[in-house]
Amino acid sequence: MLAAKNIVKQYDDLTVLNGIDFEIDKAQIKAIVGPSGAGKSTLLHILGTLDDADTGELVINNQSIKGLNKKTLSGFRNKEIGFVFQFHNLLPEFTAAENIAIPAYVAGRKQADIDQNVDELLNLLDIKDRATHKPAQLSGGEQQRVAVARALINSPGIVFADEPSGNLDSKNAEDLHQLFLKLRNELGQAFVIVTHNKELAQMADERHEMRDGKLTHQL
Ligand code: ADP
Ligand code: ADP
Repeated sequence: MLAAKNIVKQYDDLTVLNGIDFEIDKAQIKAIVGPSGAGKSTLLHILGTLDDADTGELVINNQSIKGLNKKTLSGFRNKEIGFVFQFHNLLPEFTAAENIAIPAYVAGRKQADIDQNVDELLNLLDIKDRATHKPAQLSGGEQQRVAVARALINSPGIVFADEPSGNLDSKNAEDLHQLFLKLRNELGQAFVIVTHNKELAQMADERHEMRDGKLTHQL
């Protein structure tokens, strides 16, 4: 699904990523843990094609990212990669259903196809009765589920989540974690999750620790 080899990233004198290898397959959840400032977000941004590595190779869905122009890359990203952040980043003027649909419009999909897909996700994520609400009218847990639905709308191969439960209380965090497991089991969804949450890290299939520019396997 995704393979990264020897990823290096420096900011001036600071080597944030010092030769990272990383792979993930369909239906896998991988957690990345480590101290603040270790480079977890930087790695996530590079693996998600939001940011360039200085050197290294990134292959997603058998497609090498190298040499793709900006427009091609952003189309590829919109189709193949979903993102969930600590703060949901939903557009306040749009309803839940409209927010979920945005990446599908960007991908140029047909209206009927989009409507059906949004409906399926609202059901799957148990937010059907919130479809016409705007983000401010939703609870924190509901907002985050809408953000997850938006990340899934184009059936991406992989979803990157940066502290997805960092802004939720423990009940909503637990529900979100269960939702990730359900999406892995039912859709075969792959997730790479940066988290400080021990329970979330524990339910991943594999854990990696980011430290001193390197990524190590954790039991
Ligand atoms: P983490 O997500 O593990 O907290 P980050 O990836 O956010 O770590 O940051 C790793 C290090 O890289 C930090 O020291 C941060 O200040 C630095 N850093 C991140 N982005 C930039 C940037 N655009 N320019 C300069 N330094 C950066
Ligand atoms: P996170 O909380 O997810 O680790 P940050 O708040 O560290 O994210 O970073 C937010 C944005 O600011 C990122 O795009 C990152 O690349 C950038 N950034 C982080 N640290 C620095 C820095 N020291 N100099 C410039 N940009 C930075």
